[in-house]
Amino acid sequence: MKIGIVGLGLIGASLGLDLRQQGHEVYGVARRIDTCTTAVMQGMVDHAAIALDSLSPVEVVIVCTPIAAIAPTVAALAPHLQPQAVVTDVGSVKASVVAAATPHWPRFVGGHPMAGKSEAGLGAAEAGLFRQRAYVITPLETTPTDAVETVQALAQSLGSSLYTCSPADHDRAVAWISHLPVMVSGSLIQACLQEPDPTVRQLAAQFASSGFRDTSRVGGGNPELGVMMARYNQAEVLRSLHTYQTQLSQLQGLIEGEQWDALLALLAANQQARPQFL
Ligand code: NAP
Repeated sequence: MKIGIVGLGLIGASLGLDLRQQGHEVYGVARRIDTCTTAVMQGMVDHAAIALDSLSPVEVVIVCTPIAAIAPTVAALAPHLQPQAVVTDVGSVKASVVAAATPHWPRFVGGHPMAGKSEAGLGAAEAGLFRQRAYVITPLETTPTDAVETVQALAQSLGSSLYTCSPADHDRAVAWISHLPVMVSGSLIQACLQEPDPTVRQLAAQFASSGFRDTSRVGGGNPELGVMMARYNQAEVLRSLHTYQTQLSQLQGLIEGEQWDALLALLAANQQARPQFL
């Protein structure tokens, strides 16, 4: 199959490596010519160009730009595509993207490979990134079935675990397990910085070990990613933060009231529930 990839960063270039390995002919589009040259030299794509009209021969286009650029890219691509071409994306937020992109190309199928790493850019790309990771497809009722099946087959061929749900359900679910943790973890770091005694603050920094490493990791990551989550999934992030605040107050109440048995029961319930998510 001839497959186009727009945006040769971490996700786009990683997809290129896997899809080429399976024998697909991959056409890349990047904003800078040196990115195109590097992507071809490193075997991420077969062809690369800075113009979207270079994708006129392809059957499937995967848009791998930052979220804000996905719908404008689909709009700019539309005049250059074959009528039967399928367009999909990899954006981490779905409802706003699918709503904005579909009017430009009715054969648009929202997608989200739930794999990544803290580094960004083509240099961080790696083969097999999507293996054994969730790949969520978020069609609308109006999305043509054959277009959905094409994207599902591609996702499965990467070795991913395939899930299909509505864009709204996707956004609500990722708010809980991805976006809320970034906000909570970021607040933890901010709270530690509020310690007024510089000696204690320095000691805390020196004592920090695996517990702090685990709980601060996502909050101390790429700031642009956090803003993107809050901006494009605002309602669901606020909804999950509200519930989290209620939980935190409940926990605080138990400690203030020295309700140790109730606290133990709550923490035991957490211990039992955690494996459901991992
Ligand atoms: P990235 O490594 O920063 O790559 C983004 C790529 O898009 C870069 O090559 C960049 O080109 C290009 N780009 C930026 N603005 C553009 C525009 N206006 N038009 C065309 N190309 C543009 O980011 P990424 O991590 O691969 O993320 C890409 C997408 O994947 C995002 O939508 C994100 O939500 C989604 N995603 C990310 C992860 C993750 O963990 N990183 C996981 C799943 C999904 P330049 O090199 O010229 O700047």
